[in-house]
Amino acid sequence: MRIWKVGPSELSNRRLLGEHREVHGMVTVVQKMRRGEPGGYQRHPEVLFYADRLDALIRRHEQLAAEMNRRGFRHHSPLRVCPPPEDRGLFTFTPEAIARDRQELHRREGRFRGRRRDDDWRGF
Ligand SMILES: [Zn+2]
Repeated sequence: MRIWKVGPSELSNRRLLGEHREVHGMVTVVQKMRRGEPGGYQRHPEVLFYADRLDALIRRHEQLAAEMNRRGFRHHSPLRVCPPPEDRGLFTFTPEAIARDRQELHRREGRFRGRRRDDDWRGF
């Protein structure tokens, strides 16, 4: 369960598709939590962060799907979710947090893809 803070254009194909899958999973987990249903991953730090930021997950999903389309992957899984009114709304990751994520990504990938840096994920 990880939503990267860098723009989707910086992700390798594998990470792009993986994160897309995880966003869908996280939305399902968050929706269950909000309905008070038991389920896995509900104590995961990333899930707790996004628990009241469903709108941000929806926006991130849009970014990931757009990048998938740009790369020629077909996207057949629209998120049919409306952010509930109790969502926290706007938030911003610090440049330091984004840089840490970029470093971590670089460490894991062993190389830096970085085609663009103008679509950092700064939250919404
Ligand atoms: Zn999707």
